[in-house]
Order: sequence, then structure tokens, then C-alpha cells
Amino acid sequence: MEWINLAYLVASILFIYGLKGLGSPKTAVRGNRLGAVGMLVAVVATLVNKDVLSFGWIIAGMVVGGAIGAYIARTIKMTAMPEMVALLNGFGGAASMLVALSQFIITPAVFRNPTWLAALMLSALIGAVTLTGSLVAWAKLQGFAEKALKIPHQNLLRVVLSFVTVALAGLFIWQGHGFMLLLLTVSALALGVLLVIAIGGADMPVVIALLNSYSGIAAAATGFVLMNNGLIISGSLVGASGIILSKIMCKAMNRSLRSVLFGGAMVSDEQMASIPGKEFYEGKVKSCGAEEVAMLLEDARKVVIAPGYGLAVAQAQHVTQELARTLEARGAEVKFAIHPVAGRMPGHMNVLLAEAEVPYDKLIEMDAINPEFSQTDVTLVLGANDVTNPAARDDPSSPIFGMPILEVDKSKTVIVIKRSLSPGFAGIPNQLFINDNSLMLYGDAKAVLQDLIRALQEL
Ligand code: NDP
Repeated sequence: MEWINLAYLVASILFIYGLKGLGSPKTAVRGNRLGAVGMLVAVVATLVNKDVLSFGWIIAGMVVGGAIGAYIARTIKMTAMPEMVALLNGFGGAASMLVALSQFIITPAVFRNPTWLAALMLSALIGAVTLTGSLVAWAKLQGFAEKALKIPHQNLLRVVLSFVTVALAGLFIWQGHGFMLLLLTVSALALGVLLVIAIGGADMPVVIALLNSYSGIAAAATGFVLMNNGLIISGSLVGASGIILSKIMCKAMNRSLRSVLFGGAMVSDEQMASIPGKEFYEGKVKSCGAEEVAMLLEDARKVVIAPGYGLAVAQAQHVTQELARTLEARGAEVKFAIHPVAGRMPGHMNVLLAEAEVPYDKLIEMDAINPEFSQTDVTLVLGANDVTNPAARDDPSSPIFGMPILEVDKSKTVIVIKRSLSPGFAGIPNQLFINDNSLMLYGDAKAVLQDLIRALQEL
């Protein structure tokens, strides 16, 4: 059918432009829409072409599915996004696995050649691993499962089960027996659990990006089973982009993909034992009140705001933008410093600040803002911790040594806004808090910023 391939080509072009659009906050919304239109074209073309369903059913499905999607999109909290993505990846894997199993059942034995069986095997295997792996990731993020469950001899078990699964896969392609496919699927489901259960919560977002990639590869394999070009192309795009995202996240967290998958904890037991406790800060921290910071800000010509996870927890994005506007009205230049892994998911800060309508050109990526800190009068570190820790740059013994940071410590004055001296995600103290040019302003980010705006207005 000429027209169906043409429709898939149009959908693929829309996917590619959509992905390109997602590369920048300015074009992300348009990119998302292009991708959604591409998916609509692909789904409708497939259903009409294969005579799978009548138009009535297609429209009914779109209305019901669209309504559920719109409801979830409107109600989901930004902080719960990783869980949501984990579930969606799992559904994608389940779909590939179920299509593979049903295709095996309905396809007569004479049409089952080894290439087709190999594609079907990959679809079932990767789909099953993605399904259970994603469900475990979701359960961990929800707090239903232990953060990093240590099973005795887990690495050995993983290796043995991987060999068993590969052996079953080979046998299935060789003999083409349905029973072998069933065993392979069960073994892959168990492998998915075993692969993810031992990984610490710290690394879960990277695992989710990787599972996203798996769901794409499974879909591409399903495309070969169904001889569907649209599925092959879209699956490959998801597979490739998921891998690229995993690599970017690993680099920004200074982790290798291998250590995420097999290394267990982010901080080793020896490093954990050598991490100093509260004595690290004793007598060395200077704190201040909103009025003092307002006076500092009054004279500041250049202000940088470096947000982190605390901004998301406090939901302080709108009041942050209000503070930025207040400072600009007083003649200061205000920029936002964006670290690639600030928060708990890629692009977390961009999304929050975009919600508060902070102009995109004020969001400056880490590499571009770092040279500017030395000319900055005041940097407000807003609920950020690890991404500003100078130990990552200066202390080779630090567990996060090598992780790229926002070099806020080079500013003339640094104001750290957080509730206490508690560590961040990596669980280590922050040298920044005891630097001579640092001042702590304790409190919930939203409440502190409201106090700051009030104090500025009273000056
Ligand atoms: P951190 O987790 O290092 O620190 C966040 C800080 O926010 C805490 O120290 C906490 O201190 C403070 N905080 C929490 N709630 C509030 C509040 N209501 N008001 C004010 N402050 C608050 O966050 P960063 O963004 O600096 O770093 C992100 C970390 O997460 C990195 O280690 C990164 O590797 C990791 N990570 C990031 C992922 C991503 O994709 N973005 C994925 C996986 C991990 P206190 O309790 O004292 O208020």
C-alpha cells in the first residue's frame, strides 16, 4: 500500500521534528504537539489500512483514551512525573510482549521463518524485561519497595538468569516451539525484576530513561514482527533517544551506565563511613535574616538564582519569578543558573520555571553561566545542594568528585536558602555552606522568598 507508507513517512518526519523541538524550552511545546499529531497520523493510518476497526471504534477509542490522558496530564504533580513515565514505559513493554505472543499464536507455522522468530523473540524478551523492570522502578519511586533491595548473590543470580534467558531465546529461534516462547517470557519477566530491584533509588531516574529506551527497542522489534514501518521507525527513535538521555544523565551525575546497572549505591560503603557528620559545620556557618539579604540585594547589579530540588518541594516557582521581577524593577540584571540534574528528573527546573513564565532567555545552562559567577554580586542558591558543592570540583576524595557543578562559590556573595544543614540527594556535607562569602537563610523556599519580597518593598 503506497499511501500507508506515505502516512508513516509523514508521521516519522513529525516525530523527528517533534524530538528536535524538545531540545529547547522555547520550542518544546510545539515539538510535543508535532509528535502527538505524528502519532495520531500513524495510529489512524494503521487502523484504517489493516481494516482492524471501523471509524466509529477509532473515534470512540480516541475520545476515551484522550480523555484519560488529558485527565492524567492535568492532575499529575510535577514531582510525580518519574513514576508516571515509569508506568508508561511498562505499558509500552507489555504491549510489545502481548503483541509478540498473540502474533505467534495466530501466525500459521509455515510463515514462521527464523528472521521473523528472532524479531518476535526480541519483542517478547525486551517487552517482558521492560514491563517488570518498570513496575519495580515505579514501586520504588512510590516508596512501596525497598530503595535498594540486596538479594544474596544478586549479581551471580542476574548472570545465571541472563544466560538462561539467552539460551531459551536461542532454542526458541531454532525450534520455534510455543512452550519455549512461554518459558522465555517468564524468564525475561523475572530478569526484569532482578535487574532493577538491586539498583538504588538514587539511580532510578537513569534506569527509567534506560527502560524508556528498552520500550522503544521492543516496539521496533514488534514492527518487524508486524511488518509495520511506522512502528519500526518510531520504536527506533524512542530507543535511540532513551539511550542518549541515559548517557547525558550519567555524565551530569558523574556515573557510568555500567556502575548504575551493576554498581549498586552511588556512594560506596567506605566512602559512606568517611563522610563527616554534623561536626563538619560546627562553628563555621554564618546565618542571616530576610532583611539583611534584602539590603544586599538592594545594591546588587547582577543577581543569579541557582534553583534545585527544594524549589520543587516548596513549589516556589511563582514567587521566585515575582522576586526576579521585583529585583529587575530596581535595576538589577537577574539570570537563572540551570544544572542538568538539578531536581529529580531531567529538565525539572526548566519545567517549573516555564510554568511560572520565566522568560526562556533568562534560563542559562551550566556551561554558559559558570564563567559569569565571578562578575555576579549575589547568587541565591534556592533549595539546591549537591549541584553547587565545590567538593565535586576540588576534593578528589569526595564521592561526587568529578560531577560538574554550578560554580556559585565564585560569586561575591552567596545566599543559601534551605530549611536546615541537611544534606541533599548524595548525602554528603556541602563545603559551600562554610565558605567566607556564604550566608545561610533558613526556611521553606516559598516562605523565605515571600519574606524577601516584603523586606525589599519596605526598604
Ligand atoms: P539536592 O537533593 O542536592 O538538595 C536539595 C536541597 O533542597 C536539600 O538539601 C534540602 O535541604 C532542600 N530543600 C528541600 N525542601 C526544601 C524546601 N521546602 N525549601 C527549601 N529547601 C528545601 O538537590 P539538587 O537539585 O542540588 O541536586 C539534585 C541531586 O539529585 C543531585 O545529586 C543529582 O545527581 C540527583 N539526581 C538528579 C536527577 C535528575 O534527573 N535531575 C535524577 C536522579 C538524581 P533542607 O532539607 O535543609 O531544606
